[in-house]
Amino acid sequence: MVRRYQVLAFITTLALFVSRPLCAQPKLIDAHLHYNGDPAFLKDLLVKLDAIDGLAFLLVDPKDFETARPVIQQHANRLIGFGEIRLDAPDVLHQVDRFHAAGFRGLGEISGPRKNFDDPAYTPIYERAEKYRMMVLFHTGIVNRTSPEVPSDISVDRMRITLLDGIARRFPKITIIAAHMGNPDYAWAAEIGRWNPNIYFDLSGSTLIKKQEDYAFFKSIFWWSGVSSPHSPKGGPSAFEKLVFGSDVFGGEMEEFDRELERYHKMLDACGVSPEAQANIFGGTLWRILNSK
Ligand SMILES: [Zn+2]
Repeated sequence: MVRRYQVLAFITTLALFVSRPLCAQPKLIDAHLHYNGDPAFLKDLLVKLDAIDGLAFLLVDPKDFETARPVIQQHANRLIGFGEIRLDAPDVLHQVDRFHAAGFRGLGEISGPRKNFDDPAYTPIYERAEKYRMMVLFHTGIVNRTSPEVPSDISVDRMRITLLDGIARRFPKITIIAAHMGNPDYAWAAEIGRWNPNIYFDLSGSTLIKKQEDYAFFKSIFWWSGVSSPHSPKGGPSAFEKLVFGSDVFGGEMEEFDRELERYHKMLDACGVSPEAQANIFGGTLWRILNSK
């Protein structure tokens, strides 16, 4: 006969396994790396992450859940699962439950919604994410159009960066990462980030290529470093710490990882961002968040 305390002990062990605290801080955390569904890619990725002592938020489509889950669980020091849900899928809440039960720590990249990101129809999804303390990575701004000949119900207007302001305020326990920093609405993005402590940005995508001759531009966006004023919340020493690293590797193209890393370094150096702030951007911030949830 299985006694009640044995069942409880088993559940506790299971919970510890699923949400066990991460061991040592890695040198780099990538908040935005897409799994392409090919297990061979995960092998290459793990080699890469071992070599640089990195940890990646692996964005997993529901159809690839079964191949990703065991690898993520076996390599908890290298991979953190994110469930790439679609806000309009009829079974989306079930998907959120399934990802959470498997130890996934976040949702996203969320893209291509039929309604605005902040539409009340999506409230139950955000409530569920907040209950589970899951982070949410939203695609923001311009988006690719991979098959121009096929009609598609997608619009950048429903993924504007300003739509995240209301979500951040309504769900203060959700940590939001706005991928691509609203490209090209950087100024709006930064201002929203300045007042919402639960919003961060990655600069993956075309932004750091577009701005490569003008990286000092970002100093005008992240302007409030060390500012003390009743008109600005008390922030850290560097406004640039609203950024986290994201590579947006997708389709198995690992080469983009190093290219994006180099662009981040060039931009941050060009803006004179301190080594301490850069350490937070490349991992410290997300490490603290992961260990506080
Ligand atoms: Zn994206």
